[in-house]
Amino acid sequence: MRWIRQVTGGVAAFQMAQLQDLLATVQVRDLPDKWRWELNGSLEFSVAAVRAHLDASTLPTVASNRLPTRLNLEHKGIDVDTIMCPVCQRDVESLAHILFKCEVAIAVWGRVANWCDVYMLVFDSYGEMTQWVDAQSNTNDRRVNVDAVCCITMWVLWNFRNSMVFGDPKPKKDINSKHDRNWNAWMICPLRN
Ligand SMILES: [Zn+2]
Repeated sequence: MRWIRQVTGGVAAFQMAQLQDLLATVQVRDLPDKWRWELNGSLEFSVAAVRAHLDASTLPTVASNRLPTRLNLEHKGIDVDTIMCPVCQRDVESLAHILFKCEVAIAVWGRVANWCDVYMLVFDSYGEMTQWVDAQSNTNDRRVNVDAVCCITMWVLWNFRNSMVFGDPKPKKDINSKHDRNWNAWMICPLRN
């Protein structure tokens, strides 16, 4: 390599030595440049990978136990009036409690199991639920459908919890509501092929 001006000493020589160290193991190939994504191990850059990383880093998710339950807020040092469940007032409002173990959650999951015509235990955690989803699903279509039903159920339970905390008036806990709906259509199992 030829330089316009020779490096003879001083800071420039030191920096040149550093540069040579850095480049000592670099092999340059005659290939087109491409983005490299190192945060999820795939090395393949994609907008979806960026989105997934940002979601996991910044958005509250069930999987990362970052929903602002009263217990989580207290762990973050936020002053909350109570850490008890706003729905049943019988246990600490953890993520597992509000989504799976609260009396309303247990009743709703039971109805969902009936609707889907599947056997479903009372889940202790989100991880246990995802294991159940995987064990249930003998085809990819079924896995997607089971997963969607479970995600929507959690979303509804979380919305209901928010209504109990912030709503005015508070919603009723009666899950046998008398809305005008077509029950024959409703009872058709959503997982039936
Ligand atoms: Zn509760």
